[in-house]
Amino acid sequence: MGTILMEACQSGGGQRSGEDENFSYPVERFADVEILRYRVPGFEALSLQQKKLVYYLSQAAIEGRDILFDQHGKHNLTIRRTLEAIYQNYAGDTAAAGYKALVVYLKRVWFSSGIHHHYATDKLAPGFSQAYFTEVVQSLDPSLLPLQDGQTVDELLAAIAPVMFDPTVDAKRVNQADGEDLIATSANNFYSSLTQKEVERFYGELKKPANPTPVSHGLNSRLAKKDGKIAEEVWKVGGLYSEAIEKIVCWLEKAASVAENDGQKSVIEALIKFYQTGDLKSFDDYSILWAADTSRVDFINGFIETYGDPLGYKGTWEAMVNFKNLEATKRTEIISGNAQWFEDNSPVDKRFKKEVVKGVSAKVITAAILGGDCYPATPIGINLPNANWIRALHGSKSVTIENITDAYDKAAQGNGFAQEFYWSQSEVELMSKYGFITSNMHTDLHECLGHASGKLMPGVGQGALKAYGSAIEEARADLFGLYYIADAKMVALGLLPNDTAYKAEYNKFMTNGLLTQLVRIVPGNNLEEPHMRNRQLIARWVLEKGAPENVVELKKQNGKTYAVINDYGKLRTLFGELLSEIQRIRSEGDYSGAKNIVEAYGVKVDPDLHGEILARYQKLNIAPYKGFVNPAYELITDQSGEVTDVKVTYSEGYAEQMLRYSKEHSWLK
Ligand code: ZN
Repeated sequence: MGTILMEACQSGGGQRSGEDENFSYPVERFADVEILRYRVPGFEALSLQQKKLVYYLSQAAIEGRDILFDQHGKHNLTIRRTLEAIYQNYAGDTAAAGYKALVVYLKRVWFSSGIHHHYATDKLAPGFSQAYFTEVVQSLDPSLLPLQDGQTVDELLAAIAPVMFDPTVDAKRVNQADGEDLIATSANNFYSSLTQKEVERFYGELKKPANPTPVSHGLNSRLAKKDGKIAEEVWKVGGLYSEAIEKIVCWLEKAASVAENDGQKSVIEALIKFYQTGDLKSFDDYSILWAADTSRVDFINGFIETYGDPLGYKGTWEAMVNFKNLEATKRTEIISGNAQWFEDNSPVDKRFKKEVVKGVSAKVITAAILGGDCYPATPIGINLPNANWIRALHGSKSVTIENITDAYDKAAQGNGFAQEFYWSQSEVELMSKYGFITSNMHTDLHECLGHASGKLMPGVGQGALKAYGSAIEEARADLFGLYYIADAKMVALGLLPNDTAYKAEYNKFMTNGLLTQLVRIVPGNNLEEPHMRNRQLIARWVLEKGAPENVVELKKQNGKTYAVINDYGKLRTLFGELLSEIQRIRSEGDYSGAKNIVEAYGVKVDPDLHGEILARYQKLNIAPYKGFVNPAYELITDQSGEVTDVKVTYSEGYAEQMLRYSKEHSWLK
């Protein structure tokens, strides 16, 4: 499974007419991160009822922020609060190098919702010493510190300092290294005192007997062993995270009262029921209603994606509120309207195709707020629900978030990336001319068709590919998009302007998969994140298979390596062949096939090439990761207290917003 397409790497940015006057996309930079702002075009034109709905859902989207911090590690909230107390109260030398490093560390902790890198999941290295930290904490009035039930300052420090400073403690949030105990070695807070074997046995038992419509076991709970007994602690009202979930429910109730229609009202009520009962069956009921709801305003709120759990059971809390971009949605409606044609004509074996592709509802949306695991780093496309049987029987919803891709694109303009990494001026021009539309188109195809295509053979379970499942699933969706973006059908349907535009996406994909995505990896490390593994798997595989005919080559000039495509037509054929093989692996649940292909092509990094790419990238001075501050929404009321409008503003800074959220939306102990 795994259905969120993470932010794409730098596209180098095409030139488009600038409609922005006083709005600045960049907010600030620190470490490997750039913070941007995004616009919410079209918000003012919504009806008052829709605006109120967005407002209430937005509040619900922020209230669960602490949940994600705690899911990512049991000390995260205490560490965040300690750092925030320093940031707001320290009376010592704030010009000292140690203090400056501490501020950067706090900004990174905010960004990652914890002390592990949001993407690489390894522990953030504080740029200041434990002695300095101790001294600063001890200088504060203890009443400002997050001391629990009579805890002393020394006890607080003893609890969090090793977690922050000892590189061997909780080194990795999500460990995917083959052969290790993935549960015991992962620092997330999804499991307590358990081994991988115990977890696999626990959920293996729950899966029996075979059930065609299984609930997503484990999705909304922490699994813990206490006194030798293994049991789930469920995240619900009255259970774990109750304080935050009660607030979410409270805003959802307000939202239900201004829903656009009865269908949407029942979606919100079903979600409330799930939060109140913790019953996974009610989560499926909600997901089915949600998939069918086509109202203008829409939202995600819950325990959704399972990338944070190396075994893929536990859902991290995430939220997003959005509304349909009516004009741009015409594009995705054309794609989904032709879904069956794409399925029928794909190069995969007939046995693995869906006879009837159901309800691929696709739309382009405008994000109004990002929350939980979508904030500050956010996906650019989402395809939900995740449960395979719901997707097959009831369809799924696929979205492309265009105000976010637009912000990425605008922020990347003129950054020199394309000139540095593309072989010649003609590739650079292709990118500047078509890069934005082909990149959006690839995302649409990936989300609307890729994830929704194909079927599993009878008896093959969702988790058959285990730790390789996410990378294979992402490869399947990417390949579907790569294969079809070059199809004459795209031009015939009016989705692309001509039969050369797709080459921009091919250049971008191959350059990214073979070279530039490596900028996200620390020297010496291999690839672990499923989307990155998928991209390298595809790029390396076609490079190797196409070598006899020199379809793609790594060309060197002046000590710089470039990915050069010599034959676009043959490259497309290779994408089709790989799609067919990846679909077979997925459909048959061929674990060793998945393991072999991912390990052979998607994991290892060539250290020399890696060093070269990092050096070239460093010269451009571009942050490899981006994230966003949210706009702020304010209710405007008249003298009687009646809401007359909702105002959106874009002036809040990064630290300002994080501190406001911590002050006004922090409910967990
Ligand atoms: Zn995906």
